Amino acid sequence: MTFEGVLTKMESEFSDPIQYYLVFETDFLNMNQLLNKTINIQFIKYQCLNCGLDKPIYRQGFCKSCFYEVPQAADWVMRPELSTAHLDKEDRDLAYEKKVQLQPHIVYLANSSNVKVGVTRKSQVPTRWIDQGAHEAIEIVEVPNRYLAGITEVALKEHVSDKTNWRSMLKNDIKDEDLVEWREHLKQYIPNEAQDYFITNNIETNLNFPVLKYPLKPKSLNLEKEQAYSGKLVGIKGQYLIFDDEMVFNIRSNEGLFIGISVN
Ligand SMILES: [Zn+2]
Repeated sequence: MTFEGVLTKMESEFSDPIQYYLVFETDFLNMNQLLNKTINIQFIKYQCLNCGLDKPIYRQGFCKSCFYEVPQAADWVMRPELSTAHLDKEDRDLAYEKKVQLQPHIVYLANSSNVKVGVTRKSQVPTRWIDQGAHEAIEIVEVPNRYLAGITEVALKEHVSDKTNWRSMLKNDIKDEDLVEWREHLKQYIPNEAQDYFITNNIETNLNFPVLKYPLKPKSLNLEKEQAYSGKLVGIKGQYLIFDDEMVFNIRSNEGLFIGISVN
């Protein structure tokens, strides 16, 4: 069977273990079913997620001109503290910004290689944690808009990391942390505007990824350069496919690549 389509991040289902799906325009692949099978991936062309043209992908699945135009790639997406919709102030498209920014957001702690703080829309819990390959996570603050989540994250970053080490995450070089204890410790650093939104009564969420074998020295597949790759799938964690020869392929950072995928 051969499937073709443009890569977008895998969809997932929070079950034990997590289920992953590669969704193309006309096909839908449950990646868990491909574990232990040899799959071939071929680069065919680019397809910008906005304009659809065969132009090199710059960032986040967009060609360079779209990246600097579309509201989904504005600075406040990566830096929530720059959000201004709550002030009725437009960045690129106020209607879009109001829809995305003015909804409940969560500031969380997730442990994928170390404890880190992050922000997500409430509707994206636990998807965001799955995408990061976190094996445990907890909500610490639930606020009504993205700006408040952003300034809370900025304040907490002074006291806890905001980065993940993807190699450690893939090697499963991890330790369990008491996230409830971390939350209690960080409470004092939450800005005044967000103090009332502190969450006190929930517990850690644990996530179990479908991995048969972790790589000791993960190597990242550059599909644009190699054009094609073939290997036995032995795991999926975060947005990475993990292969038997220790090659890993980050689906999310390859969004916008139009590929062919076949299963032996
Ligand atoms: Zn484009």
